[in-house]
Amino acid sequence: MPHGRSSLRTRLRGRNVHGENMATTDPQAPTLTRRTVLARALVLPLVGALPIAAGGCSKGPKCNETGGLSADDAKIRSEIAAYTEQSVDAKKHCADCLQFTSAGPDSCGTCKVVKGPINPAGSCKLFVAKT
Ligand code: SF4
Repeated sequence: MPHGRSSLRTRLRGRNVHGENMATTDPQAPTLTRRTVLARALVLPLVGALPIAAGGCSKGPKCNETGGLSADDAKIRSEIAAYTEQSVDAKKHCADCLQFTSAGPDSCGTCKVVKGPINPAGSCKLFVAKT
């Protein structure tokens, strides 16, 4: 069984991604060295993680902290208004509702009828479009 750097190079050279022999007589053909293989193995997972690190899985602020609400306000929010953090209707976002007051970009706003933090991307049954 071959060992060492040159034997790995020999084994990797001229093979396609399926491990099939693609032997070449071209002396200028690139050689896949152990260093190249290790470098790619370290870099590829990082490249795959970039979109997660850059954008994460969340859209906008998290505005679902309602621990300070009274029982009545919590019931209005969750049952009567049926507030949701992410609207399923592209035409009904809190940011476009008459009752919404913005607190700035990427921040939770407030609502005149639904208590607690309000996500600009959220919505509820009480939506009233701004005119
Ligand atoms: S009434 Fe509903 S849709 Fe309008 S801002 Fe308040 S929570 Fe959002």
